Formats: sequence, C-alpha cells, structure tokens
Amino acid sequence: MVFLKWVSFILFVLGQCVPTLPSDSSFSSNGLSQIPSKFLNFAKKPELFDWMVGIRRKIHENPELGFEEFETNKLIRAELDKLGINYRYPVATTGVVGYVGTGKPPFVAIRADMDALAMQEMVDWEHKSKIPGKMHACGHDAHVAMLLGAAKILKEYQKELQGTVVLVFQPAEEEGGGAEKVLEAEALEDVDAIFGLHVEPRLPAGEVFSRPGPILAGGGYFEALISGKGGHAAIPQRSIDPILAASNVILSLQHIVSREADPLDSQVVTVSKFQGGGAFNVIPDSVTVGGTFRAFTKETVMQLRQRIDEVITGQAAVQRCNASVNFPESFPPTINHEVLHEHFHKVAGEMLGIHKVKDMKPTMGSEDFSFFQEEIPGYFFFLGMQNQTFGQLQPEHSPHFQINEDVLPLGSALHASLAATYLFEFQSQLHLQQGNFHDEL
Ligand SMILES: [Zn+2]
Ligand SMILES: [Zn+2]
Repeated sequence: MVFLKWVSFILFVLGQCVPTLPSDSSFSSNGLSQIPSKFLNFAKKPELFDWMVGIRRKIHENPELGFEEFETNKLIRAELDKLGINYRYPVATTGVVGYVGTGKPPFVAIRADMDALAMQEMVDWEHKSKIPGKMHACGHDAHVAMLLGAAKILKEYQKELQGTVVLVFQPAEEEGGGAEKVLEAEALEDVDAIFGLHVEPRLPAGEVFSRPGPILAGGGYFEALISGKGGHAAIPQRSIDPILAASNVILSLQHIVSREADPLDSQVVTVSKFQGGGAFNVIPDSVTVGGTFRAFTKETVMQLRQRIDEVITGQAAVQRCNASVNFPESFPPTINHEVLHEHFHKVAGEMLGIHKVKDMKPTMGSEDFSFFQEEIPGYFFFLGMQNQTFGQLQPEHSPHFQINEDVLPLGSALHASLAATYLFEFQSQLHLQQGNFHDEL
C-alpha cells in the first residue's frame, strides 16, 4: 500500500508539472514531443507494416479460445526471440510477458489480449479462419500484432528508454478472467502504470476515443436452475410447472433496474438464456435461465447480484419451485486513471492531431482490463477502424467482423509512445522531486 501511495504521488506530480527532459537522452535533442511522430513514422515503414499484417493474418487463420492460445503464444515467443526480447512464459497458462528497456524501474506495461471466440467466421477472404466454429471476431489478432509492432519499435529505441516496458500478452479476455490470472501469477508486481487498447469498427480510422473515469461497465453472469415437478401437460394439477415460475422470474428481474435503480445511474439486467422443455405435452422437471448484469461501480454490481439472487429464489417460491442461482463470473468496471488520461491526450494528440483525440460516452460493455486497473493505475482507449474502403464495418462479435489493417501502425506506435514517454516523464519528475528534496536539506 505504501508503494501504491508513492505511485499515486508520482502520478499526481505528473499531472501537475510540465516535465523537463534528462539531458543525456538522444530523444531530448528533438524534444519529448517528437517521440509519437518518430514512432509512427517507424511503424509505417513498409517492412514493419507488412510484418504486422502477416502476424495478424496468421493468428486470424488459427484462432484459439481462452487459455488454449498455444500456437498464438508460440508465434509471439518466436518473434520476441528474433527481436532479442526477454520474456516470461508461461504466465497464466498461455500468457507471455516480455521486457524491453533497462530492466530496472520504473516499469510501464502495455497489454494485448490473445483469445478468439467460439463462432463461425462468415467473411470469405484469403485468410479466413481455418478452424470451424472459432473466429477472431473481436480483433484480438490485431491487438497481438500491434503489441509485437510496439515491441519492435521499442527495441529499436531501447538505449533511449528510461526504464522498462512490460509487454503483456494476456490470455482469455472474453471468458475466464485472464487478466485476473496474470495478476495472480505476480507478473505485474512492480508495474507503475498500464495501457490497453481495443479496435473499434464503428468509429473513424485515424481517431482514438476514450475518457477519464468510468468507460466500460462492470458486472457478471448469472445462471439459475428452477426446479418443479414434471408431468403431463394436460393435467397441470399433478405437476409443479417450472416454465411458469421461470417466466415470472424473468418479468420480475426486469423490475430491478426499472424500479430500484436511480434512473441517472446506468444499469442493465438481461436474461439471455432460457432452456427448458422438449415436448408439447410434457411439463418439464426444471428450467435454466441465465443472463448478465452491468453497472459502473463495484457496489452497484454487488447490489444487483444480491437482488438477482433474491428475486429468482423468491419468485420461484411463489410458484412452489426451488431455485439455485450461480454467479460463474464477475468483473469490475473499467475506470480510467485521471492523470493517465492527460498523458494519453498529450501523446495521442501529438501523434494524430488533437482534433483526432475524442472523448466518448461510457458504454455498458465490459473488459477484463479492469482487473489490472484495480491493482495498477491504468488507461484503456479505442482505436477507430472505419474508412471509405471498408464502408460500414460490422461490430465486434459479428461473424462478419473485419479488421482494417491500415490502423496497425497507429496502434503499435501509440502503445510504444505511451510507454516510452511515460518512462521519461516518470524519471524526469523523480529527478525534479529529488532536486527539491536536496534544496530543502
Ligand atoms: Zn470481445
Ligand atoms: Zn475484445
């Protein structure tokens, strides 16, 4: 906790002061503000661009689900080996954590998720998924390619880094809480700040979107088994009907948000699963209902969870049924650190032009990046992909999802710039503070 307070202090100072550069840096001759454009130019070189595109397509052809990303991490490790970048493996079963820079503090992390989804790709193209029923439909293949691109940029400028950049290739973002497992593996113990990005097909290419504070909701999943007594559908008095009970449960769950939540506080309860019965003339023994709930504070998430439990068991009892409720997964809201927002705004603004750095409204979707932010000051942002060539791209998790590969250099340069400039600013503020302490002595 003392360490976290110290980090908070540094972040506070970062937010208050205009940093000065250490004089021995070769970046300093051009100024810190040159890093983003320098890195972007490097990332746009045809050889680096083609290399990233190749990696992305290879991963796209061979999608792997959470904690099964064995071929993906093999590819990542092979590329890190070629770059001469040290890494730790395995982390959280299939994760890889690489290190570029001095090997000493400060440490700043940049993260990519690696997992695909259990769905069939419907886009017919040369590099379509070769695995039936599995697809990279959330862009995590592009995230890995961009983080490897950042690794290449940072390796090129390694001598000028004022600390260590930690490259986090994280498994199982979609399901299974990969981020939590990476933390449990103590892979990010000394990290002072962490950055993550997500491609966004519905926003314009060349622009980035984020906000300070809550940006994505927290929440969880629930599943309930509602048990009655099966029997002949024409003789209902001899049965206890779980379908009627489940129907009342679903209606009552809808009243939690509409009647109990502050209308100004965004919350969601959705029943997305209803399984029960298989014949016209049979009342089944049991029914399964399940779904998700979302909110923007941890307290509200816990409150929703408690009410969902109470409503399901209470409403099932009204119809003489029993209910058992499970909550297989829950996740905190994604809350961006205020000072890191300033850092992001400055770095992205210098790279893209300040008019391309947009504030966005929070959305009810979720990201397991939020687990990192519970332990480490963190910042998450979206990278637009939409342009004239592609027209209207399909949203994430659509079987028609596509990546605009033109944005790969942008993502990799942003990753690398956010990390490299963070290290510079951290160090220069440290020097300033040490200087101040000496004055006082
Ligand atoms: Zn997803
Ligand atoms: Zn995703």
